[in-house]
Amino acid sequence: MRKITALSMSLLLIFALFGCQLSNIPKGAQLVSSYTIVVGADADIFERDTAELLQDYITSLTQIELEIREDSAAAAEYEIFVGDTSRSAEYDTQSLANDEYYIVSDGNKISLGGNKHMIAAAAGELAREYVEASKEQFILRASDIPVTVTPKKIEYKEARNIILMIGDGMGFEHINAAKFEGMEEFYAENLFCGESITTSLTGVTDSAAGATAIACGYKTTNKTLGLDGEDRPVKNIRELSQELGKKTGIVTTDTQIGATPSAFLVHLISRNSPDILSAQSDVKLDYFKHYVTDEGILNSVKEGLRTVNDSENGFFMMIEDDKMDSGGHGFYPPSVVIGINRFNENIAYNMCFAAMYPDTILIVTADHETGGVTFSEKEKKYVCTTSEHTGVNVPVFAMGFGTEYFSNATVDNTDIAKFMARSFGVEDFGQQG
Ligand SMILES: [Zn+2]
Repeated sequence: MRKITALSMSLLLIFALFGCQLSNIPKGAQLVSSYTIVVGADADIFERDTAELLQDYITSLTQIELEIREDSAAAAEYEIFVGDTSRSAEYDTQSLANDEYYIVSDGNKISLGGNKHMIAAAAGELAREYVEASKEQFILRASDIPVTVTPKKIEYKEARNIILMIGDGMGFEHINAAKFEGMEEFYAENLFCGESITTSLTGVTDSAAGATAIACGYKTTNKTLGLDGEDRPVKNIRELSQELGKKTGIVTTDTQIGATPSAFLVHLISRNSPDILSAQSDVKLDYFKHYVTDEGILNSVKEGLRTVNDSENGFFMMIEDDKMDSGGHGFYPPSVVIGINRFNENIAYNMCFAAMYPDTILIVTADHETGGVTFSEKEKKYVCTTSEHTGVNVPVFAMGFGTEYFSNATVDNTDIAKFMARSFGVEDFGQQG
C-alpha cells in the first residue's frame, strides 16, 4: 500500500514537472538537459577532445553537465553526434575544405561535422548560437539548425585569448624522429607553419634568453630572465595581459624555477639567482602548475583553460613541455620521441579549443633545438649529435586571427612576442628597430 502511494506520488510529481516544462519550452526547442553527447567508439582524438570541450562549454553556460556516451551504448532520445558515429546521418566530410564545418539537425538528433579540429568549430557554434536561457531553463533551439548540410567557413575573431605552447628544445628533426618511430601525424602541421631564428646575444641560446625573447620581444644574453641586452627590465606578455585585464595561466613540466616559465614571471640577471623564488612570489597568476608529471600535463592544461577561460577580457596561457630538451641533453632520442608524442596530444586539445573559441590564437613553437637530432644513414635511425643546444631554426605553428603572418615565414623569436602583443592591440611592445 505504501509502495503504491509513493509511486503515484512520484508519478504525479514527474507529471507536474514535465507538464510545467512542456508549456515553457518554445516550439521547436528542447531542454538542453535532455541531450546526450555521442562519439563513435572509433572516434579520433579531435572528436574525443571536442566532445569533452563541448561538455565543458555547455556546463559553463548552463551548469548542466551532459553525459558523453559512445555510439556502442544504447541510443538516447535526444543526441548530439560529434563526428561520425554508427547512427548519425551519413555526410561526406571529405568534400569539406580544411577550414569548413557543418551543423545539421533532423529534430531529435544533431550532427556536427568537420575535418580534424574543425569539428570543434561546429561544437562551438552549437553552444554559442543555439543554446540559450528561456524562462529560467536552458533550451537548445534545434528547429533553427539547418536540416541539410550547409558547410560554413570558420571565422576567426580578433584575439581575446592567446595560448602559447613551447616545446622546450623541439626542432623540426625531433618531429621527424617521432614520425620515423610511428607517430602518424604531427597535428600542428595542419596549421600555418613557419620557422623562428633562436640565437641570443650570446650566440646559441639557452632557455632563459630564448624564453625572454618569446615573452618580452627582446634579444638578451644567455642566463638572463626578462632583461634586455643592457640588463634593463622589459615587460613580458604575461604582464601585458594582466594590464589588459586578462586572466593568466602557466602550465609546465619544468620546475617552478625553470628558465622558460621564469622568463614570463620575473626580471633577473641570472636564471641561477637565489632570488628567483622570492621574485616569483610577488606574481599573481590565475593558474600556475609546475613540475606536472608526464601524465598530468594534459589534465593540468584542461583545468587551467577552464580556469582562465572564465573571463570578461580573455586570457593568456603558456604551456611548456620540456621533455624534448631533456631528451636532447641526455643524448637519448627515445625520450625526444616520447616528448613529441605527448606534446602532440596536448596540441590536438588546444587546436580544438582554439577552433571552438575562434577569438583564440594558438602558437606552437620552441625556444631552441636540443641535441642536434638528425637521421643517421649509417644507423638507419634518428640520433643525437650533441648534448647541447644548437642554433638551427625551430618551427612556429599558428592558428587564429592574423596568424597567416607565420605562414612559410622565417621570423625572429622576438617577433612572436610582438605578434602576440599586436594581437591584443598593443603595437609598442618589444625591441623596436
Ligand atoms: Zn636545454
